[in-house]
Amino acid sequence: MTFALFSIFNALAFHFEIEPGVSILFPATAIAILACMSFGWWAAIGVILGTIATPWGENAGLRLLVVSGVISAIEGMIPWLVFRARRDLSPDLRDMRSLLAFLVFGTVINTGFSAIAGNVLIINHPAGVHLVWREVFVWWIADFTAALLLATPALAFGSALFSRIRTTDSRRLAQEREVDRRPRTIANALQILAVIVMLGFATSIVIRMTLLNRVEQDVKHERVMAAVTLVDAFVFLVLGLASATLVLNISRPFEQMHAALDAVRDGRPIDPASIESSYLEFRSLADALGETQAELRRRESELRLQTERAIEASKHKSDFLAKMSHELRTPLNSIIGFSDLLAEQEGTIEAEKRIAFLDNVSTSARHLLGLINDLLDVSKIESGKMTMHFEPIDLRTAIANSIKSTSPLFMRKRQQVIVSVPDEPMMALADRSRVEQVLLNLLSNANKYSPEGKKISVLSAINGGDWRISVKDNGIGINNDDQHRIFDDFEQVYTRGPNSSGTGLGLALVKRFVEMHGGAVSVESTPGEGSTFTVTFPKT
Ligand code: ADP
Repeated sequence: MTFALFSIFNALAFHFEIEPGVSILFPATAIAILACMSFGWWAAIGVILGTIATPWGENAGLRLLVVSGVISAIEGMIPWLVFRARRDLSPDLRDMRSLLAFLVFGTVINTGFSAIAGNVLIINHPAGVHLVWREVFVWWIADFTAALLLATPALAFGSALFSRIRTTDSRRLAQEREVDRRPRTIANALQILAVIVMLGFATSIVIRMTLLNRVEQDVKHERVMAAVTLVDAFVFLVLGLASATLVLNISRPFEQMHAALDAVRDGRPIDPASIESSYLEFRSLADALGETQAELRRRESELRLQTERAIEASKHKSDFLAKMSHELRTPLNSIIGFSDLLAEQEGTIEAEKRIAFLDNVSTSARHLLGLINDLLDVSKIESGKMTMHFEPIDLRTAIANSIKSTSPLFMRKRQQVIVSVPDEPMMALADRSRVEQVLLNLLSNANKYSPEGKKISVLSAINGGDWRISVKDNGIGINNDDQHRIFDDFEQVYTRGPNSSGTGLGLALVKRFVEMHGGAVSVESTPGEGSTFTVTFPKT
């Protein structure tokens, strides 16, 4: 293919010859560069053969034709060698460095070499003259124009076409595909366009100024004019084609982006890949749009979850308030009722009855106080204002203290408490009074929910990095279904009478306090047989 194309364009150049052997329009240079950039050495052979096949003059010997072909081949091979040596440069000029490298080595230096070498080795000069700079200039500007106006845009924007016909060397192909996948930026496309248009017009002006006035013969004059007109026309063509491509490539993604934005607004799913564009700016905009939508969806589900939680919390709060007012009203009604009775029957009431009434008032008031204290603790914990005084303590002492405080309760119900603690100290970093409060709650529950005369045990042991303390009773036990809810605020399994000492907050506080120590609470129970509540505290 190189051979055929180079031959055709080489023959064409002959019609623009204005010096012996020197043409003012040499499009074959662009073919040599493009072919060498794509096929390497094979293209160089095609160029040499093409030169031999289409000689300009009848008396051009084989030696001269081979030299001429080699010069053209070297002209094409110089940029190829540079791009081969520097793998970071992309052959389709996707960045400024690649564009500059190609301009220097693919349009200026290589054509400069061929112009000088050609003038010295190919052109016939009078005896004693080896180099004529004016001829060198004509040769150079002809080759440079072709390289700039044909090779540069073809290489930059025809990359898809070129990569398809390029060598099958799999390693190189894979590498080039990697480069091809990287989209071009709009800035880069505009840079290439600006360079081609500016240098193209500059070239045509230079040709006009330097050559038109100097060539005397009409025929030559016409050839230069034709070349200059062609150059101008080509610059306009490149400008027109590139502008149309840019406008199309830019307006299409804008429309797609618009549609995607509408979709985001309406909550419809979008596919960022549907915004197809060969420009990096639009790709990143499309990606950003996709990310925005994903983020919006994430926020939406987060909000939904938070709303559900808020509704749940508000419901819980209403339940809590309803239960709390009920809990407060019951003992208060009892206090008011009995004190009214005492006031009404003053003077007539028997001493025994009065004591019973006063006892009721006192029990209800104590219950109220206990309830308020528990409520205060709960609200302090909830608002994060509960201060804990952590210090190294021996949990055995806390067990002994809580048993001591609850012993009157056990004595009243003739319940025996058995304690089992290890010989060594049960050291833990804990708040002494809160640990005792936990144990007191468990012990008073065991007392409350076990019939008279039943045995209660407090067992302690080590379990991995934790101390385990279990309070085991042989009382009424708890249903399996109820076991999970007894740790919630105000949850009670059995409805109590007005004089009940329970608040329904005890186990809720136990759970919170134990967790604030880094431990946990659990229950095992069989209805009618008894319950075992176990708390753990991390060892120090
Ligand atoms: P209360 O003040 O009512 O005892 P708690 O929060 O301490 O409240 O306990 C919640 C509920 O768990 C109790 O109402 C009771 O039904 C059940 N419960 C707690 N401890 C025991 C136990 N040792 N045996 C049987 N049931 C228990």
